[in-house]
Amino acid sequence: SFQSSQMLKQLPDQFFAKLVGKVARLSASGYDVINLGQGSPDQPTPRHVIDALKRAADNPLYHKYSPFQGHDFLKEAIAEFYKREYGVPIDPESEVAILYGGKSGLVEVSQCLLNPGDTALVPDPGYPDYWSGISMAKGRMSFMPLRESHVFLPDYDALSVKVLNQAKMMFLNYPGNPTGAVATPEFFAETVQIADRWNICVVHDFAYGAIGFDDKKPVSFLQTPGAKETGIEIYTLSKSYNMAGWRVGFALGNPSVIKSINLIQDHLFVSLFGAVQEAAKAALLGPQDCVRDLVQMYESRRNTLIGGLRNIGWEVDYPKGSFFTWFPVPSGFTSESFSDLLLSKAHIAVAPGIGFGKEGDSYVRAGLLAGEDRLLEMVERIKKLKLF
Ligand code: PLP
Repeated sequence: SFQSSQMLKQLPDQFFAKLVGKVARLSASGYDVINLGQGSPDQPTPRHVIDALKRAADNPLYHKYSPFQGHDFLKEAIAEFYKREYGVPIDPESEVAILYGGKSGLVEVSQCLLNPGDTALVPDPGYPDYWSGISMAKGRMSFMPLRESHVFLPDYDALSVKVLNQAKMMFLNYPGNPTGAVATPEFFAETVQIADRWNICVVHDFAYGAIGFDDKKPVSFLQTPGAKETGIEIYTLSKSYNMAGWRVGFALGNPSVIKSINLIQDHLFVSLFGAVQEAAKAALLGPQDCVRDLVQMYESRRNTLIGGLRNIGWEVDYPKGSFFTWFPVPSGFTSESFSDLLLSKAHIAVAPGIGFGKEGDSYVRAGLLAGEDRLLEMVERIKKLKLF
């Protein structure tokens, strides 16, 4: 048999792949599993987006390769979307890269910026795909702890001069997976300052940009003065338009980073199916009540679940954005032992926090990805465990 490359040997198992397997085996044995472990929206894509795809799929133009780096109409739609939503002017020519979901850009950007041995700053806990990209680029990770006492923002004062000197790039993600924390304009302003001073490229993952609660719209990193020179922001349609299966997202910002991402994608993919690009345009520029409904739905689920768990004595906090809840595990448990207990005794699947980094080991993550009846059922099942 063939030996895999050194790079592949060093790549960790895809964390969610393992979790999906465990849940599938339990469900296949006939158990009624409440599955909040993964991060895939449970609602369908809005009808007008599906219709746009269907119409476009009949156009023979789209049966050919799309132009390298995507159609101009989508890049222009993206620029219009950012202007409308965040007041940020974007040049569609030089400041947009169309992506295969946010994930492709998040992985590729490390290949764009890191030489073997170079350091990237990574939030802990944070989304594991940042590690995959860094590992593929043979870079090194330096973790920035996100602690509850610091509202899950990194404490830049705690980073050593040595680390700041070595760092070439920094990943951030607000609203955050897994913590549900949101960033403030002041925090982003401080980030730009640090990044400028130490010449670090900021990669802000804005996957949950549309999902902020309590009438607070999450801020875009690119709204910060100087941000476009300092880094990029990655957006995806997966969560805000329930389009996780469609694989469409984009990167915006610093033209040299955008150019590098586009170059890698030229070599890997050519470009997305043209009809999907039409559908993405329909999502970004079409009616937006679907997004408002979706945010309301997650907020209502959040209130039901958190309210229910607090009622039975589990001291959990309300996330401010994203569709994740981040629960401290009872003392005596690790994140894995507690999620194994929930799965085996209550048939509730949550993600153990260790999957997001060492700091995550005293938490589990549950997605707000089932109806309120199921969330209430979850509360009932946890109550029966008499843990609190
Ligand atoms: N970033 C974060 C924080 C996520 O949670 C996800 C998906 O779970 C993504 C990026 C990537 O999503 P996609 O590749 O579907 O755009």
